[in-house]
Amino acid sequence: MDKVDIVIIGAGVVGLAIAYRLSKMNKEIILIEKHENFGMEESSRNSEVIHAGIYYPEDSLKARFCIEGNRMLYELCKKYDIPHKKTGKLIVANTKEEKENVESLFQQGKKNGVLGLELLTEMQIKKLEPNIRASFALFSPETGIIDTHQLMKFYETQSESNDIIIAYHSEVTEIQKNDDFFILDILDSEGEHFQIGTSIVINSAGVTAGKIASMAGIDIDKAVYRIHPCKGEYFSISNRHNGKIKHLIYPTPSDNDLGIHATLRLDGTLTLGPSAFYVNDINYDVDAAHQGEFFNSTKNFLPFLDYGDISPEMSGIRAKLQAKGEPFRDFIIQEESEKGLPGLINLIGIESPGLTASPAIAKYVKDLVNNF
Ligand SMILES: Cc1cc2nc3c(=O)[nH]c(=O)nc-3n(C[C@H](O)[C@H](O)[C@H](O)COP(=O)(O)OP(=O)(O)OC[C@H]3O[C@@H](n4cnc5c(N)ncnc54)[C@H](O)[C@@H]3O)c2cc1C
Repeated sequence: MDKVDIVIIGAGVVGLAIAYRLSKMNKEIILIEKHENFGMEESSRNSEVIHAGIYYPEDSLKARFCIEGNRMLYELCKKYDIPHKKTGKLIVANTKEEKENVESLFQQGKKNGVLGLELLTEMQIKKLEPNIRASFALFSPETGIIDTHQLMKFYETQSESNDIIIAYHSEVTEIQKNDDFFILDILDSEGEHFQIGTSIVINSAGVTAGKIASMAGIDIDKAVYRIHPCKGEYFSISNRHNGKIKHLIYPTPSDNDLGIHATLRLDGTLTLGPSAFYVNDINYDVDAAHQGEFFNSTKNFLPFLDYGDISPEMSGIRAKLQAKGEPFRDFIIQEESEKGLPGLINLIGIESPGLTASPAIAKYVKDLVNNF
């Protein structure tokens, strides 16, 4: 059996960011991914927004890592030419209740340390975005968009050139703990099983992270690590509307998501989404019957849209810890000595803003590795 210093499970944007960060540590590291390529789950099925950190409770890991990750991502993109654009974003209001929500988001964002937030009147909004309808808005200049595929490609190339092995088509199927190391059973593309020993396992398996924690011997219901997959669908907006908005336009958020919003892609196209509903199995079909829901929830602030302007595009599945109707849940990122599993680092519930937070999460995980 081969032995390495560290095994990372999952080549999504978070696992890759961790691999990149740890690759300068001069340790033997292998990153295991069940698909034939990186980022084939949550990391390639999202809005690609670099969030500013407005929504999350003060001092939560989501707020802290989003704000730090936002700055780190812009720096990385500039330094290494990763395509991105600081578009800015408006969270819009048209009713008294929405206005109050926007005002409290403004306060929350300021408490969290988000830079540049501004409340805008209808006239100011009209100057920025003449084609939308909003009587009041919160403007966030630090929000932007990124080419996530290029970001992941960057992490992959850099990690490999720093001697990290990335094993694609390799699925972790079992984890055993010996006295001082873990043995991982891995199923390869030929249908053969092989084993790897390691003293540190980093579980960055996205929507499957609860299952991996369970494989390692954690009672995920007792630990409250069970993931509740929550689907988000997108509908694309007809190209005839390209250029009609210049910022990302969001409604006020609901309890478990940010609301169906209009996102700009780097190629100039516009898309609506994501919606949010809990699912039992993972499939990425988009239900065309949801067109009415998408149209009705956005026509108020995007009055230029006609029903026929939108069509099913794609979907993603959020790795949510928060079950339906439950209050806010934060990211869980911890080394599990207290659970009798020293050397296991679990990352559970890395939903939005996980893409934005990824470089900051990786920095934090490196500290956990160093302190182990
Ligand atoms: C609809 C939607 C919109 C979003 N929008 C945004 C946004 O605009 N901005 C933002 O910051 N965040 C956003 N997010 C969140 C962001 O996409 C995620 O937080 C991030 O992609 C999580 O990355 P990850 O690496 O943890 O997970 P993943 O990308 O899911 O990667 C986990 C990897 O683990 C692998 N794996 C699982 N089990 C095993 C196993 N047993 N063996 C080997 N490999 C395994 C999987 O194949 C997968 O590749 C959004 C998410 C969704 C779903």
